[in-house]
Amino acid sequence: MIEAGQAKKIINEESKLLNRENKYEKVYILDSLNRVLAEDIYSLDNLPPFDKSAMDGYAIRSLDTQNKENIILKVKSLIKAGDSCEEPLKEDEAYKIMTGAMLPRGADAVIQIERVKVESDNLYICEEVKKDNNIIKLGEEILKGDVPLKKGTLIRPPEIGLLASLGYEFINVYKAPTVGIVITGDELIDIKSEIEKGKIRNSNEYSLKALIKNSNAEVFSVGIVKDDRTALKEKILLAFEKSDIVITSGGASVGDYDFVKDILREIEADIKFTCVAIKPGKPTSFAVYNSKLFFALPGNPSALINTFEEFVKPAIRSMSGIFKNESDEFQVVLKNDFKAKEGREKYIFVKIEKEDGVYYAYNSGSQCSNHLRAMCNSNGVIIIPKNIGSVRAGEVINGKFIFR
Ligand code: AMP
Ligand code: MG
Repeated sequence: MIEAGQAKKIINEESKLLNRENKYEKVYILDSLNRVLAEDIYSLDNLPPFDKSAMDGYAIRSLDTQNKENIILKVKSLIKAGDSCEEPLKEDEAYKIMTGAMLPRGADAVIQIERVKVESDNLYICEEVKKDNNIIKLGEEILKGDVPLKKGTLIRPPEIGLLASLGYEFINVYKAPTVGIVITGDELIDIKSEIEKGKIRNSNEYSLKALIKNSNAEVFSVGIVKDDRTALKEKILLAFEKSDIVITSGGASVGDYDFVKDILREIEADIKFTCVAIKPGKPTSFAVYNSKLFFALPGNPSALINTFEEFVKPAIRSMSGIFKNESDEFQVVLKNDFKAKEGREKYIFVKIEKEDGVYYAYNSGSQCSNHLRAMCNSNGVIIIPKNIGSVRAGEVINGKFIFR
């Protein structure tokens, strides 16, 4: 049995080795959300493209307000956003100007509407206005030729806005890996079916597809396969053919009908580990086959989700070009006792609430790895280290939010 941290290290190393440099695609900017830029983005324009007003007010010459007792300027006309004013501003003149409008030639400052008085065409100013006051200067944000977004950047809503303001409609992003899923178990029936004797509905296929979607990867499912060695091997090989990562659900343990590990040996996959000191999720295997990653995940529904989040998701992220260095864990004060045994790193799904700046963890129900209900009642998880058993209310432990 391998330590959970060691398992993560191995997966991280193997996924980094899979070179994705040449695997990119051109997508519409809105489809690039949560993907990673595969090119440097150069600016073909200055942003903003002209000096513009940051306020609704009056465009003036700052000099006209300096060392003067009474400042009275003549208001010429109104410049609104989108106009281009041809006539330059002359001494002791002002233009009324709206936010975002282009500054007229000769003007070097804007005074806010709220700070002046206007009677007929006369503008009264009672203060000295500094040069560049309330002006957003040409190229202040980005200069023509700049690289405001570098290859490797994760695209979030502000990046999409910036791309749009630079005139990019399509950009190159790294291709998301395709994850092949193979669901095994003689007890499984389709979710449309009524429950029959000895059978349960195939929920894992759906949670897996949702987890993959949540990780912004593509899915290829071979559906349910019987606990039959030949059929299972055939479907695993098909999944390898069609995907970058293959996941099996179920059949990964030591039961008489758990064939996944035998098949890995038979096809001579490079098996890295077959058992992890994590709860839930001990019967998890990881292997590399034909430069593709393979995860055998346990069939127990919450173990499957936990191992996906801890082991598969980081691999998908790194194959998508996302390298996360910062930890998302924080300290949580326990509101209840939690029973646990030493020997494995334990993930206990809880409700985390913040009160007066402190995070507290509340019990959310039975943690049986066959149940999903407690996970549905949870927004977070606390992680009890391997060498610690039960923990008590009031103790402080590391936790994190889930599915964020
Ligand atoms: P296994 O990993 O095959 O030993 O299965 C462990 C437990 O998970 C058993 O109780 C299975 O019935 C259950 N299980 C396996 N596959 C699925 C599935 N696709 N959906 C829901 N439960 C499953
Ligand atoms: Mg089974």
